[in-house]
Amino acid sequence: MMRKPIMAGNWKMNVDHIEATGLVEKLHFTLVDKDWDPAKSEAVLCVPFTDIRTVRTLIDGDRLNFGLGAQNVSQHDNGAYTGEISTAMLSKLGVGYVIVGHSERREYYGETDAIINAKALKVLAAGMTPIVCVGEGLDIRKAGQHVEYTLNQVRGTLADLTAEQVAGLVIAYEPVWAIGTGEVATPDDAQEVCGAIRKEVAALYDEATAESVRIQYGGSVKSGNVAQIMGQPDIDGALVGGASLQPDEFAAIVRFYQ
Ligand code: PEP
Repeated sequence: MMRKPIMAGNWKMNVDHIEATGLVEKLHFTLVDKDWDPAKSEAVLCVPFTDIRTVRTLIDGDRLNFGLGAQNVSQHDNGAYTGEISTAMLSKLGVGYVIVGHSERREYYGETDAIINAKALKVLAAGMTPIVCVGEGLDIRKAGQHVEYTLNQVRGTLADLTAEQVAGLVIAYEPVWAIGTGEVATPDDAQEVCGAIRKEVAALYDEATAESVRIQYGGSVKSGNVAQIMGQPDIDGALVGGASLQPDEFAAIVRFYQ
């Protein structure tokens, strides 16, 4: 089964809605100049909530081949949840992807596997695709527990999802020690865990589901290391933080296959 590579840029809490216009246009022109073939890789921009309307307008107006993503969502439908944003609000703005369970949300906002699971279910119910983040911290890696720890997060975050739902979603393996640190997991390290995740999906569901689900690696991915990472059999894309704010870098990551 051919899984289409998916490169998602996570802008985090950077880029206001004015700056977003410049970044999207630069990215678009860089990719067009360099002959990007959108049939060979999918590019998704996961932007702050306040940029969604602007980026949606640019994508529609200029017929850009970018997917639009959010970085978080509430697990509740609506109501007295001050400051929260619902899946219905996002889907109405044409958002296609939502990152759930990023390690920064787990660490700073206390998100547990159960909360992330509830968010993933809501995202799916609203017809969007969750990018479910998993991955171990440095202490777990040093103790040699990284595979079991990450698989436990996979089981927790995918609880109650159907095989059909899992087949269509994206799992991002992001070792926390490699995020924003310049420290990249070796391609073998990344493959070890991504391969184990695919096997776990096969065990929890079936082979067809495991063959279909797309698994990203995330952690200091740059133009210089993306080809090696993408050369691994169980890695189908990248979740990119810092480098997604640099149009030339992100464009090169999207065109990793050239
Ligand atoms: C991320 O935030 O998901 C990430 C992988 O960041 P960076 O690429 O900067 O390590």
